[in-house]
Amino acid sequence: MLGDSAHAGPVRVLLLSCDYGTARQIDELLHATWSDVHLVTHATWDSAAAEALLDHPGCCVLLDAAPAAEAAQEDPMILLEYVRMSAPDAPIVLLCADEDEDLTLQAVRLGAQDCLIKSELQPVLLRRALIRAIERKRAETELAHQAMHDQLTGLPNRALFLDRLGVALERSRRSGAPLAVLFLDFDNFKEINDTRGHAAGDRALSILGGRLSGLLRPMDTVARFGGDEFTFLFEGITSEREVVLIADRICQAASRSIEVEGVSLTVTVSVGIAMVNDPTVSPDTIIREADAAMYRAKDRGRARYELFDEDSRRRANQRIELEAALRQALERDELRVHYQPHVILHGMDVVNGVEALVRWQHPTRGLLAAGEFMPMADDLGLAVPIGRFVLQQALAQLSKWRTHKPEMTLSLNISPQQLRDPTLPALLTESVREGELDPAAIYLELAETRLAEDPDQMVRALHAVKETGVRITIDDFGVGALSLSWLTRMPVDALKIHESFVAGLGAASENASLVGALVELGHALALDVIAEGVENAAQLEQLRELGCDAVQGYAIGRPVAGDELEAVLLAEVA
Ligand code: C2E
Ligand code: MG
Ligand code: MG
Repeated sequence: MLGDSAHAGPVRVLLLSCDYGTARQIDELLHATWSDVHLVTHATWDSAAAEALLDHPGCCVLLDAAPAAEAAQEDPMILLEYVRMSAPDAPIVLLCADEDEDLTLQAVRLGAQDCLIKSELQPVLLRRALIRAIERKRAETELAHQAMHDQLTGLPNRALFLDRLGVALERSRRSGAPLAVLFLDFDNFKEINDTRGHAAGDRALSILGGRLSGLLRPMDTVARFGGDEFTFLFEGITSEREVVLIADRICQAASRSIEVEGVSLTVTVSVGIAMVNDPTVSPDTIIREADAAMYRAKDRGRARYELFDEDSRRRANQRIELEAALRQALERDELRVHYQPHVILHGMDVVNGVEALVRWQHPTRGLLAAGEFMPMADDLGLAVPIGRFVLQQALAQLSKWRTHKPEMTLSLNISPQQLRDPTLPALLTESVREGELDPAAIYLELAETRLAEDPDQMVRALHAVKETGVRITIDDFGVGALSLSWLTRMPVDALKIHESFVAGLGAASENASLVGALVELGHALALDVIAEGVENAAQLEQLRELGCDAVQGYAIGRPVAGDELEAVLLAEVA
């Protein structure tokens, strides 16, 4: 068997040869045993071959390596390259006059599927070679396609998108026509994944991918850039207005509900637009600009698009600078730990504990609060080394303070990355031993929203650190989405009510009942309840009445350096 059963319809062969003898030989060989073959011969050895290739798409090309008499100096490899560029999907078989290892190797490297020697040709051999060349080319094309496309959506992937962007920039350099790149990000993809499962998330991505590609003209590109990000490339754009209209259509198409497993999901997307009027910029820069504009769309409330402009450019540059500086902050010794006191409301309101809050002494911007750089540290994967630094500093400080005030406690903010770090329990145990500390005096604070991201994993990690004897506080309680059933499964000792509830106190009576309910919930679970962001005496009194166990905030004291707080603590003792 020749194994050509896989082919539907006749095999079509395009012979490029100027030699009449060769043409007749091939014709005879092909038709000797093979009825289902269609041969076209083109007597050409120059650029006229391009027309033949265009006129006969889908052919297997048989290329005679012997040049035409009048072009005796020509290199057959040049023609091969030419054929490959004009008809990238065509299988190519080279016909050589005699055995030539070098030529064969070179031809295969340049994309030919096979080389045959004219004098050795037989009908069966030729037929088999052609069919195998077709199959080989098909497999190569398939592999190349897979390498350049996203499996899930079938759309071009990041590599292909960047490649096309590079080609488009090249064209734009010649033509002067501007182009536009759009960067799209799901606003609520994580939520879909978490609540409906990964299969539903994948389904949503693939439906959205199909919808987005349906909006485009054939020459436009939409790619799955990664995760829940899609990028678009539009060439021959005439105005900003045109792009804005497209972005609007994209946002609308994306926000139509998506049916997944019988459930209707609502998706929104944020889109950033980068117009490229200067085609000398790099693809990376353009993507970064579109990405920065997308972030601005998120900042301004999501489910919208934003154009990259001077302001975005400045902010994007600032972010890049800040990121670079933050990476070096630790080794340059620019991080500090400040301490904010809290007081217990039962009995005399004395400071019994502090929360460690990291600060960055930035070389030009001054002292930055944690809220200004910790989210970025998380993104950059710096939460673990920074957390380690804070932990060591703060435990050393605690150990010093406890010699004067043995009841003193310390709260440390722990990011999920740090909690997941398997070396955290050992670090805690070691630092506790070094400082001759009671681990029960240490509270690890974890934000409720972060625990809710992956409660299953968090429960396991919390139990592991709990073994070291430290205590656990749920921070920013009330704004996250942790269910009660998860809450009861976590080894928690205290709840810290988010400052937004405290800020609402005094304004309307519902706010007081809300805080009251949170306090009761905590007490029902046998947890201590602390309120943060307490800024005035009225709030403090109300919290006392509502049964809150402890308070923290500017009304008690601002976060300050260790030695500054020490004076206060010692004064209290005295
Ligand atoms: P958090 O743990 O909820 O910390 C409370 C934040 O509120 C702190 O901001 C604090 O300075 C501020 N604050 C304190 N009292 C008041 C008040 O009366 N009114 C108002 N409006 N604000 C008050 P900061 O230092 O910017 O920290 C922000 C967040 O960064 C923290 O929220 C915490 O989640 C995180 N963080 C701080 N230090 C660290 C750290 O060492 N490691 C990690 N992983 N995260 C940290
Ligand atoms: Mg905290
Ligand atoms: Mg908090």
